[in-house]
Amino acid sequence: MSEFIKVSGEIVDEEALNKALNFGIEQVRTKIGSKFSEVISGVEVQVGNNITESGGETDEKQKIIKIDTKKSSMSLRDVEDLLVPQGYYDTGNLTELVPSIADQAYSYSSYNIVHELGHIVGGKLPVELSPTRYGRRATNEAFAEAFTYWVYNKPIDPEAETIIRDKL
Ligand SMILES: [Zn+2]
Repeated sequence: MSEFIKVSGEIVDEEALNKALNFGIEQVRTKIGSKFSEVISGVEVQVGNNITESGGETDEKQKIIKIDTKKSSMSLRDVEDLLVPQGYYDTGNLTELVPSIADQAYSYSSYNIVHELGHIVGGKLPVELSPTRYGRRATNEAFAEAFTYWVYNKPIDPEAETIIRDKL
């Protein structure tokens, strides 16, 4: 992964984090093929405490992805259990995205890096095309959520898929 992405900052379990990030990055590579190097080129991932208000955020122009040290160690199920009651997701939105790793520590990072790379791609989608409630908050979030679903081979609206392919 270091070949493409530089990770810096406070990392509790660097090996586990790298493994989880790599899982997501390899999914993106498999899905988008020859466009991969263009998307990932120059991207830097920064990890730290209190550097982002949410689990992750992306500066599209600077190509910097910031991820939270503590949240990055959570499993998809932990995050789903936290965010479903808050109305951000429906049950299954995260855990059924990648069921094989849903209970593993750090598996949230495998979702998060793909979502944030969706922001690097930088598209927008009509919010009603978002596969999740979270993405219905804003057009760029709708794109990032649909991109993540698409990368993990989950069904999305055909119109959303067309917009994603056009943006790559
Ligand atoms: Zn986002």
